[in-house]
Amino acid sequence: MKILILPGDGIGAEITVATRLALEVLDRKFALGLEFVERDIGMAAIEKGLDPMPDAIMEEVRATPFTMLGPVSTMEYPPEAQHLPSPSSLIRDNLDLFANIRPSRTRPGVPSVAKQMDLVIVRENTEGFYAVRTMFEGKGEFMPTPDLAMSMRKITVQGSRRIAKVAFDLARVRRKKVTVVHKGNVLRITDGLFLREVRSVAQDYPDVETEEIIVDAMAALLIRRPESFDVVVTTNLFGDILSDEAAELSGGLGLGGSINASNDHAVAQAAHGSAPDIANQNKANPTALVISAQMLLKWHANRSGNNQLASAAAHLETALDDVLADPANHTVDIGGNAGTDEFGEALARAVDQ
Ligand code: NAD
Repeated sequence: MKILILPGDGIGAEITVATRLALEVLDRKFALGLEFVERDIGMAAIEKGLDPMPDAIMEEVRATPFTMLGPVSTMEYPPEAQHLPSPSSLIRDNLDLFANIRPSRTRPGVPSVAKQMDLVIVRENTEGFYAVRTMFEGKGEFMPTPDLAMSMRKITVQGSRRIAKVAFDLARVRRKKVTVVHKGNVLRITDGLFLREVRSVAQDYPDVETEEIIVDAMAALLIRRPESFDVVVTTNLFGDILSDEAAELSGGLGLGGSINASNDHAVAQAAHGSAPDIANQNKANPTALVISAQMLLKWHANRSGNNQLASAAAHLETALDDVLADPANHTVDIGGNAGTDEFGEALARAVDQ
């Protein structure tokens, strides 16, 4: 299986090197037959006179089952590239990766604000307030006059139903509880539709408990009782914000793994950004990208029924927990002194055991 690595910007190169090292050892140990291919996107592509997401690489992503995407810093691109959609948006749009699945859990040895938590935020990824992703043509954000800026929030029946189904299916193999987060008291029409469709999908899952919480209360309850949540389903922007909050509660943004998935394609991408403040200093925590890669292996294993892949994914998760359990391996963001490279080497050794 080909693994396409797109390091992206900022800390992207450092965290992909560390993650790749672990995957190479995993490949040898489980005879997975992985073939690693790396391509330049973002600033590295712009410096070669190309678009941040060259068409040829987009086609490669489409044709490759396993893509590992680093973060991108579109706001820092030169003016001529500013109007172009980000690599991240293009991939999500082109492959219709409607589900952004972001787990957060406390781990032995990792200092965290939450005493205990193990939840997954299932974020709708193609609609909501994300101006560049929501329209067939044109953008969902515009200025009719210089003193008036407007943004459109798009919510559809199909989008709401398919994300709800992902959440309920996931809850079935976890603790069988779905929390639906919305702002239906104010956004009565858009979140009204979202709620109506999620409730309708919930009818097909009588074995799964459903609760509904307004987003502002959820922001507080996530801090007060994070252990009470299992699967959280919500719209795009709310999911983006709440998942960063959840990652931080579990120890930090550097632990926030995620995959972007459709029914037949998925891409591993850490939830955090390009962290320009620590880029090229050997300080980045690769955990989020490792978790993302592990989730992608598991996603493929579930779809294909490949037991070897499932065992490899489980082994990688255990190895990561073992490495994080030892404070000597902790990077600066979680209170340690280890460099990104030391973390990567420790993980590779743990995977080898
Ligand atoms: P950020 O997530 O990059 O950083 C926020 C804070 O968390 C920083 O202090 C950073 O050092 C820290 N941090 C993040 N990931 C870390 C890691 N793996 N290890 C250790 N510390 C980590 O958010 P930001 O600063 O708001 O955004 C920076 C850039 O990233 C912006 O250009 C933004 O547009 C972009 N961004 C990209 C994506 C993406 O590509 N998926 C997502 C969010 C932000």
